[in-house]
Amino acid sequence: MIVNLKEILPAAASESYIVPGFNIFGMDEAWYVMKAAEEENSPVILMANKDMVKLYPVELLGAMLHSVANQSSCPVCVHLDHTYEEAIIYRAMESGFSSVMFDGSQLPMEENISRTRAIADAAHAKGISVEGEIGSVPYTDEDEIKDEKTTPEQALAFSKRSEVDAMAVSVGNVHKLTQPESKIDHTLMKKIEEVSEVPLVLHGTSGICSADMKMIINSRVAKCNIGTLLRQAWGYTLRQEFSAQPDVFDRLTLTKGVLQTIQRVATEKIRELGAAGKA
Ligand SMILES: [Zn+2]
Repeated sequence: MIVNLKEILPAAASESYIVPGFNIFGMDEAWYVMKAAEEENSPVILMANKDMVKLYPVELLGAMLHSVANQSSCPVCVHLDHTYEEAIIYRAMESGFSSVMFDGSQLPMEENISRTRAIADAAHAKGISVEGEIGSVPYTDEDEIKDEKTTPEQALAFSKRSEVDAMAVSVGNVHKLTQPESKIDHTLMKKIEEVSEVPLVLHGTSGICSADMKMIINSRVAKCNIGTLLRQAWGYTLRQEFSAQPDVFDRLTLTKGVLQTIQRVATEKIRELGAAGKA
């Protein structure tokens, strides 16, 4: 069944679990991640990221993920990840997405709040949830995106005035790390929690070590974005399958083991985040 963030995040924020948001790069991957959630009886968020939106019409991505969500017996949120342009978000709202992220993190705070608020008003009228970002979570490979930790003052203002359903914060997390090397500032995290009225989101989960994750599970963080982990599972397994079966050319045969690995890694993440049984 299709749900939005408002239906699944408040419980995760107040209880000790986190709903995983997986970046999805194809129909088959969406299906096997959904199967992992179904078998674990977990809520899940299927996300189209900005690289996918550059390659394919947002209408196609929304229709595809929406169809997968409709086939599922567990709660599935269909979410558009980091988007800087309102025009794409308005198209996504007509395309099957139940949730969108307006990323105003590169803007001055007042402009971030007012533009996020305008999106939230339009989205809420359609029953669609909105994620915003305050502070700026850096990337390992995109120097133009700022590296700026969220201050408690910013978190308070943003959570009170932007009308978002989920607030992404920057507390030492980094996008696209291939090893768990993030240095999470738990003191800052606590201060942000104390002043925030909306569920929190951490991006860059593949770079967070399991000891940090255990602490984060008990916080008001309700959604964690996972991209690199599944991309690694996909790429490394596909390479093994190619070398193990040099004469095979059939796509379904070559990707069978890859998709089994995707499902297994998604299952492990669902369990690590404590989301199993929370559907
Ligand atoms: Zn992100």
